[in-house]
Amino acid sequence: MQDLVEVTEAGLYCRRGDFFVDPWRPVPRAVITHAHADHARRGSARYLCASPGKLVLRSRMGGQAPIDVVRYGETILINGVRVSLHPAGHVLGSAQVRLEHGGTTWVVTGDYKLERDPTCAPFEPVRCDVLVTESTFGLPVYRWPSSEVIAADLDRWWRENRDAGRTSVVLAYALGKAQRLAAVVDPSIGPIVAHGAVMTMVEAYRASGVRLPPIDRVPPRARRVGGGRALVIAPPSVLGGSWLRLFGEASVAMASGWMTLRGVRRRRGFARGFVVSDHADFPGLLAAIEASGARRVLVTHGFADPLARLLRERGLDAAPLATRFTGEASPDAVGVEDDDPEAPASGTAPSPGADADAAAAGIRGAAVE
Ligand SMILES: [Zn+2]
Repeated sequence: MQDLVEVTEAGLYCRRGDFFVDPWRPVPRAVITHAHADHARRGSARYLCASPGKLVLRSRMGGQAPIDVVRYGETILINGVRVSLHPAGHVLGSAQVRLEHGGTTWVVTGDYKLERDPTCAPFEPVRCDVLVTESTFGLPVYRWPSSEVIAADLDRWWRENRDAGRTSVVLAYALGKAQRLAAVVDPSIGPIVAHGAVMTMVEAYRASGVRLPPIDRVPPRARRVGGGRALVIAPPSVLGGSWLRLFGEASVAMASGWMTLRGVRRRRGFARGFVVSDHADFPGLLAAIEASGARRVLVTHGFADPLARLLRERGLDAAPLATRFTGEASPDAVGVEDDDPEAPASGTAPSPGADADAAAAGIRGAAVE
């Protein structure tokens, strides 16, 4: 039987239903897993997303884009294909796409994580025959600390800086991680201040009903904002510019899954690296794949080859899915776009050399654990 989802020039395509999932070119009908720039592009004639993500997608797509919504779990028919969206736990409104036709069920995960995140609905496993999964952190070296540990580490760092009269600057992408960090820190430590790109998304989150602590926008012509007591949340693109000078003496930290590789943080000279990601870590990927019950797994977006190999060793029918991201399994290749979820700022990416090779080698060990 023909595959329900295939890769075309414009991206993942469901021929039977005549629609695309996260197309990278304008198409007549686009089902969007979430609003990050590498998944939601402008120019399509019609968009479909999960209802909690509508305002975020609207702020990314502009006021005129025709956006249809469905509730999580609600099934609609598109040219005879049953389509439903299910929480992916990645950012507000993020969804896995479930497709059913002719007795076969496919799920396209989009980006997802299993960790707790107070700013979005938690990941829900969806049973299927064929799973198309991301693999951004699909190597055994990538294991995340718990959300509680991350929050405690952030608070301690912020408190120490505040007591020394130093501003705490944490770099995090503007959609999702910035709001998550704001939601988990202790706002009694000091004021929280955000870059304009972050504030745009903060406002979309608030308008969508997500509760966040008070967050100040940096006023025009400001000087020494926050008096050395503030936690500043900004996208990595501010590095190297003059914006950071607004805060006087500052400790600059990066919040990213790539901070797992200590060499990355050191080479970039970040005062701190917080290992916090909105993608599944390695155990999370394996847990999600197992929970899907899928016998066939297509791996995309990240370390597709080694993860597919590991899954084959475990008896699954697994293969990398040849999308435009295939073969770009190094962090160097991630984050060409400014707000790519896990991009270290330009030029900061870890080399695919020693660290990644060692990590890739480790995958065999994990297979026999
Ligand atoms: Zn994403």
